[in-house]
Amino acid sequence: MAYNVDFLLSALIFLLIILNHFMEQRALNTKSTKAFLTFLLLGIANIVFDLLCTFLITLARPDLAWMTECCLTILYLLQILVPVSLLGYIRTYYESDQSWPRWRRVCCVIPPLLMSLFILLNHRNGLFFRIDNSGNYVRGPYYLCMYLFAGAYILVIAVSSHVYASQLGRQKVRAIRELLLLVGICVVIQSIYHDILLTGFGIAMCIAILFFTINNPYQHMDSLTGLFDLNYFREQCNHFILRRKSFHVLSVDLCQLKRINRILGTDIGNQALIQTAQMLRLVGKDTRVFRSSGKRFLLICPTISEYEAAQQKIQEMFSQPMEIGGSSISSPVAICGIIHAEQLDSCEFLLGYLDYLSSLIASTNRTVLIQGNQETRRGFRYTQEIEHFLQTALEEDLFEVYFQPVYSTSQKRYVTMEALSRLRHPTLGPVSPEVFISIAEKSDQIAQLGLLQMRRICVFLKAHPELMEQIQGVKINLSPMELLKKGHIQQLVDTIRESGLPASCFSFEITETVATDYSENLWNAIDLFTSAGIGLCLDDFGSGYANLNSVLKLPFSVIKMDRSLLSDICTDEKAAALYRNTVSVLRNMGYTVVAEGVETLAELELLSSWGVDMIQGFYFSPPVSRSKLLELLLPKTDAAKNCLA
Ligand code: C2E
Ligand code: MG
Ligand code: MG
Repeated sequence: MAYNVDFLLSALIFLLIILNHFMEQRALNTKSTKAFLTFLLLGIANIVFDLLCTFLITLARPDLAWMTECCLTILYLLQILVPVSLLGYIRTYYESDQSWPRWRRVCCVIPPLLMSLFILLNHRNGLFFRIDNSGNYVRGPYYLCMYLFAGAYILVIAVSSHVYASQLGRQKVRAIRELLLLVGICVVIQSIYHDILLTGFGIAMCIAILFFTINNPYQHMDSLTGLFDLNYFREQCNHFILRRKSFHVLSVDLCQLKRINRILGTDIGNQALIQTAQMLRLVGKDTRVFRSSGKRFLLICPTISEYEAAQQKIQEMFSQPMEIGGSSISSPVAICGIIHAEQLDSCEFLLGYLDYLSSLIASTNRTVLIQGNQETRRGFRYTQEIEHFLQTALEEDLFEVYFQPVYSTSQKRYVTMEALSRLRHPTLGPVSPEVFISIAEKSDQIAQLGLLQMRRICVFLKAHPELMEQIQGVKINLSPMELLKKGHIQQLVDTIRESGLPASCFSFEITETVATDYSENLWNAIDLFTSAGIGLCLDDFGSGYANLNSVLKLPFSVIKMDRSLLSDICTDEKAAALYRNTVSVLRNMGYTVVAEGVETLAELELLSSWGVDMIQGFYFSPPVSRSKLLELLLPKTDAAKNCLA
């Protein structure tokens, strides 16, 4: 019989290409990846032996009979192993060894073992095939059992993929159905037309489908850097965590990426990312590198020694500026490390923990390292607890507003006050506003919180008109995120309008970072505020590195000097000179200057002598509840008694 080997040859070429791509990209060691490689290699071996056997059968030389028989035996064994390995591969996606019942494992092993035994004994009884004296290949009486075996396995795979459809997911189930249909058709055609060698082709198609859908190594690749992406990192971590296999993680944040993009352009930013990826690849032989998000890279180290060496190498590498396009660019990194990450609850926990650790590193101009320990773990758990609680607090409006009065040095009385949010956790006690505000900012809840507080402030002020006769108004903090939220500023302005209170009673405090970061949104917001007659105050002046020029272009009437500038003004002449001169410059420019964080009489006296207009700080009063505020500002009236409970 003349055999058509065209299908087999094309299938072999196809599989060799797939193997080449797979080996180039396959850096990870998951069970599925290993099982896929086994299936791929068995598929290739099956085709190679199929070709070899076809060649020997066509030659039909009696002197090569022993060789033909050997090759055929191997081919028959491979045809048993290929469907078994396919089932094994698919199983890695829905079953772990522990959860696979023993009887089922035995049931899976017995049929291929028996078939293999019969194939090995075929030499004696010729059940499946034999080579006659003239070297011709002759089919045995049980030849069709091979097809039945393959058919049975296709059925088992089809049934299990149906039963475990929810664990496999839609995409995998679809791919499995497609490949089974293809292999099934090929097996049936070859069982009828023996000369068309389609089974090997079917296997190749099946591997191709798996390669393009389920096991595509490029699917988890970051196109810019060529590193694996966050999904692959997740897959790896879950694999290690599930098996409690020791691993250690480092995250590397390119802190200045945003600045590089803004000043030098995104092309240079991309170059910096590519170069960082190249440098990190060299960190350790067994260390795997991933790109998690815009500026963050993640490294998995299998041993502590590798982890420590990686830490050191990264610190050394990134203490030098990068050479990009002929110019040297400073690109410090923030490194966070977690040892024994397998002890964490899940990969999501690990990623959240890394976020938390990197949030502990203030924006920096040099490479810094922070190592997770018991204390940071506690801190992270605390933040998580607050994060959960925040949702409830927003739904049930559990926030409070406190007010800190602000004293006028010229009028010698309180003239305004700052509204500050407060939150108490039922078991953890009061939560620092810095903690819950930053969580609300990250989780996009800050606008909701801002609006709730705005309404509360309006209700309070409306209920106490006598308070508004005493002071000029109230200052409310506005987070940068609130400026970004579409329609939010309009909602704040509408709330003020609906309260019926004069808009001039309100002013919003924004920090200097806002003025440079979100200028377009900022200008829209500013238009809304100014046209409504609402004032603007620059908060925490001197705490950041904002461009003074762009800050002063904004229509602030009041500037609040940051508390940090106050430290040492009583003891350090340079600190005092800086404060004094800044106040003098700002006042000459027409701003009202408020000193924040004044705690002592000595500070108060100095600041008053330097011409500071208003004083806010614990020296006069900490932020107080509504009732205390009324007692403080309206001591002679009954308002305090009538205030809201
Ligand atoms: P901020 O706007 O700069 O508020 C002043 C902070 O300094 C307040 O901290 C206040 O309690 C504290 N402070 C005032 N005087 C002194 C002093 O003499 N000594 C010391 N050590 N501290 C003093 P608080 O209430 O913890 O608020 C922290 C920050 O949280 C605020 O800084 C503000 O940026 C933010 N924040 C608070 N409430 C809200 C809110 O409702 N919305 C928004 N967006 N941010 C808020
Ligand atoms: Mg403020
Ligand atoms: Mg402030």
